[in-house]
Amino acid sequence: MDKQELQKLRDLPIEGVAERLGLHVSRHKCLCPFHDDHHASLSFSVRTNRYRCFVCGASGGSIDLVMHLLKKDFLDACRWLADANNVLILSEEQRGNSQLSTLNSQLTFDPTRYARFFEHPFLSEPARHFLFDERKLDERVIRWCRLTSWGDRKGVDWLQIPYYDREGHLIGIQNRLLSDATARSNLSKGALPRFRFPYGAQCSIYNLPVLNRLQQGEALYITEGCSDCWAMLSAGHKAIAIPSATLLKPADKALLSTLNSELSTAFHMYPDRDEPGERLFLQLQKVLPNLEHHQLPPDCKDFSEYYVLTKSEKVL
Ligand SMILES: [Zn+2]
Repeated sequence: MDKQELQKLRDLPIEGVAERLGLHVSRHKCLCPFHDDHHASLSFSVRTNRYRCFVCGASGGSIDLVMHLLKKDFLDACRWLADANNVLILSEEQRGNSQLSTLNSQLTFDPTRYARFFEHPFLSEPARHFLFDERKLDERVIRWCRLTSWGDRKGVDWLQIPYYDREGHLIGIQNRLLSDATARSNLSKGALPRFRFPYGAQCSIYNLPVLNRLQQGEALYITEGCSDCWAMLSAGHKAIAIPSATLLKPADKALLSTLNSELSTAFHMYPDRDEPGERLFLQLQKVLPNLEHHQLPPDCKDFSEYYVLTKSEKVL
């Protein structure tokens, strides 16, 4: 792996890496995961981009944190970080036998190479089970979203999710792990992220083509990820997904504001019942002042769960 790539991983903000690993960081501190901690002994230095525990002495940078917390070797920790942060985005197969290479995805993502996958979508048995039995999604929604599935050489099933621009051109692809728990645990301690970030740097909003169908004054729901977006569509709402407010480009913000001013679009959101969910809501509300907050019931952590619940209770 070359030095520049490693440096990119080392430069990932240490507190963000900690949060992706499930640590709850507050005021540059969190409970130390390396000893039985009750007083937030692990502290982060934004300046040096390192962590240090004043009780057990654990210390290091972003790669060390992943290695020690997930008990991975150096290379696996780098891969995990890359997958979780959209730094190196080629799969093992695509990498071939060459070294890990950084992809400036905006320059090298070639949609024409991939577009054909989505012309005749194929859903494997695990994909159908996940989408229709577990998530109770509407077949029409899955067709509209052109989801397709594939299995890699290790026998791992993936759902492949195309991102389109408003004109229907393929601009990016995201993979979601489908395989069951057994297959997952065979993969390096089960820490493979469920979602890989989209290939192609343009995918900051999912399901853009739905905007062409928005009527004057109609409601548009904003979700955090594709899964919630499919559930929202299956519930009969028009919806887009915005995974992160910080990924929104000025053009995206302008597009959303235009909807507001020209179509009087009313924006709605059911934030996930956790701190990142509420934070995303507040960030989006800065872009969309009329964004309306809906509260999920206490036993549902996201809209997908709520949808499955209401679906089995036949409320919707
Ligand atoms: Zn410690």
